[in-house]
Amino acid sequence: MTRLFHLMMTAPSATFTQTKPTETVAPVSLKTANVHNKSSLVSKATPAVYDWDTFKFAPIRESQVSRAMTKRYFADLDKYAESDVVIVGAGSAGLSAAYVLAKARPDLKIAIIESNVAVGGGCFLGGQLFSAMVLRKPADQFIEDLGLEYEDEGNFIVVKHAALFITTLCSKVLALPNVKLFNATCVEDLITRKDAAGATRIAGVVTNWTLVSMHHDDQSCMDPNTINSKVIISCTGHDGPMGAFCVKRLASLGLLKRNAMGALDMNKAEDAIVKNTREVFPGLICAGMELSECDSHNRMGPTFGAMVLSGVKAAEEALKVYDLRKKQDLEDMC
Ligand SMILES: Cc1cc2nc3c(=O)[nH]c(=O)nc-3n(C[C@H](O)[C@H](O)[C@H](O)COP(=O)(O)OP(=O)(O)OC[C@H]3O[C@@H](n4cnc5c(N)ncnc54)[C@H](O)[C@@H]3O)c2cc1C
Repeated sequence: MTRLFHLMMTAPSATFTQTKPTETVAPVSLKTANVHNKSSLVSKATPAVYDWDTFKFAPIRESQVSRAMTKRYFADLDKYAESDVVIVGAGSAGLSAAYVLAKARPDLKIAIIESNVAVGGGCFLGGQLFSAMVLRKPADQFIEDLGLEYEDEGNFIVVKHAALFITTLCSKVLALPNVKLFNATCVEDLITRKDAAGATRIAGVVTNWTLVSMHHDDQSCMDPNTINSKVIISCTGHDGPMGAFCVKRLASLGLLKRNAMGALDMNKAEDAIVKNTREVFPGLICAGMELSECDSHNRMGPTFGAMVLSGVKAAEEALKVYDLRKKQDLEDMC
């Protein structure tokens, strides 16, 4: 078991207490329900407890809805404009990294930037649009920690639906107090800094609404926003309209030599992706399938253990360099 994963598994996990599915719930009146209290009966209520004849939602004014959303979103934009770690891409690698890192280091502010509305990347299905998700051991330890059921097939395990895995992982990540997911938002450039010796490092990301980014060709001058961050973990997946973004951008700047993904070899590919998950450029750690577009590793087909453990390793690599990058960040401001 890796050091950080061990730390994560032994960390207090009050947030993740699971309710017993068989627990019986006494009928509850809506009038007495206290929705602010997590132990309230209403949170365990089934439709059977509602009296549909007298049913009525509590009144609201439209502006209250608007303010409830906007004041929180703008507070988050303000808070995470200075992040400790930015994770680009909320697929299986990015969310695994966020889960491990945020749980092990509650003191760090972690922003996840996801270009799609929905999180999960390519992890809502197994191979060829089938449902089951295969993970080779030892990735089963991660699935155990999430509390998911699986079938043990010897050297690998099978979760009955990839969507069950990714939605469970996402719900646990989003419940952590030090994580903010900005979805429908994409990273459209990187922030660079040069130190006194002329060495460049990545010091943040340039963001925009994805729908705006998609229209730079037909609408002019739609400037982006920025997030400063000590470390960036890039997990943007395979090459595509948005994929492999950070690696492609570094290559276009001449800061990294990029080699396209190699052909399929399950046994080689998964070990290579996990072992080589690292800081590929000062300030930028690359994980998941994006790494195959950086190093030309083989692809592995529909087996997901490497995505999960590459995320775990990315979290460890981030902590290895965090103090140095934080020091450099402070020096930039002097
Ligand atoms: C051609 C092709 C081949 C594939 N081959 C394999 C394979 O060999 N093995 C395998 O396991 N899977 C393969 N897949 C499926 C899938 O890519 C992976 O299984 C898996 O989902 C990769 O996990 P990930 O976390 O690295 O990236 P993804 O699941 O792809 O997640 C990346 C996330 O980053 C987001 N994103 C991308 N760019 C940006 C940006 N600029 N800003 C913000 N967010 C961004 C995306 O919306 C996405 O949610 C393949 C997919 C394709 C299209």
